[in-house]
Amino acid sequence: MSKLSEKIAAFGERHPTLYKSIALSENVLKKTVFKCQGCGQCVLSHNAFTCCMRCPKQIRNGPCGGTRPDGHCEVYPERLCIWWLIHKRAAKLGRVKKLSKFHIPADRRLENTSAWLNMFAGRILPFELGKKSRDVNLTKKDPPSIK
Ligand code: SF4
Ligand code: SF4
Repeated sequence: MSKLSEKIAAFGERHPTLYKSIALSENVLKKTVFKCQGCGQCVLSHNAFTCCMRCPKQIRNGPCGGTRPDGHCEVYPERLCIWWLIHKRAAKLGRVKKLSKFHIPADRRLENTSAWLNMFAGRILPFELGKKSRDVNLTKKDPPSIK
């Protein structure tokens, strides 16, 4: 991100009440709209605005290989495979190319932290409205000191 965004994130992380309010607002919004699982390292904009952490194996780089021929999940046959859904939506939105971006495994230390502030801090990839993925160097690796 930028020096300014890093300062905004640092300010939020120094003030627990503010941090909790931001994290709560994000949580309520994303849970309601995207069924967010609180991973703290959001890749929604790379995955056709569909949360890949809803996969029971929490796979972040495409399906596990067990998707049933009718598009249902091998673990929960009553549900659609989330990666089947992601591909279908990406095709509709013209965002299939974005699915080829490699995402590092989820860092469990970031669970239930604010992905918005993690993005501002430069810990995770930025939200991308564009249809092409950009190369971004993450500037921070440490998790926020508060939760
Ligand atoms: S990718 Fe992570 S932060 Fe984004 S909606 Fe899914 S669980 Fe929530
Ligand atoms: S079938 Fe799809 S949703 Fe089910 S575990 Fe495999 S990748 Fe995840």
